[in-house]
Amino acid sequence: MHALMPQTVEDISSMVLEKRSVPLPGSGSPLLGVNGKIASFVLRKIFGTERKRITSDCTHCGICERVCPVNNITVYDDNVSFGDNCADCFACIHWCPEKAIRYGILKVNSKSHYTNPAVCAADIMAQK
Ligand code: SF4
Ligand code: SF4
Repeated sequence: MHALMPQTVEDISSMVLEKRSVPLPGSGSPLLGVNGKIASFVLRKIFGTERKRITSDCTHCGICERVCPVNNITVYDDNVSFGDNCADCFACIHWCPEKAIRYGILKVNSKSHYTNPAVCAADIMAQK
């Protein structure tokens, strides 16, 4: 195990609760940095994830705005606006109760969305 990694579930739990960050093994390597840039390029330029749009199913409930970890979404009465700060976490897609968010050419169907059954949107919002 990496020297900086927590040893027990209790250690991990306290890290999460205290919002402490620990660099993952190899996270400073140039190769991982290149991989991250390639993954980001593929997502944004090939799958078009930087082109987000909302379907008419949107009810403007505001959940996507409140779960976005980087405050990249603003919900208005008649619109939803995405900024340029997306971290490609896909939280907004998975937590949208109406499945109303589309990213580029990524296909959306009944199996496209998943949320941990032990976690609710309020839990995500409370962590921001
Ligand atoms: S979570 Fe979905 S339904 Fe709610 S405002 Fe965002 S896109 Fe619309
Ligand atoms: S994918 Fe994540 S970071 Fe990007 S807009 Fe959606 S919630 Fe925010």
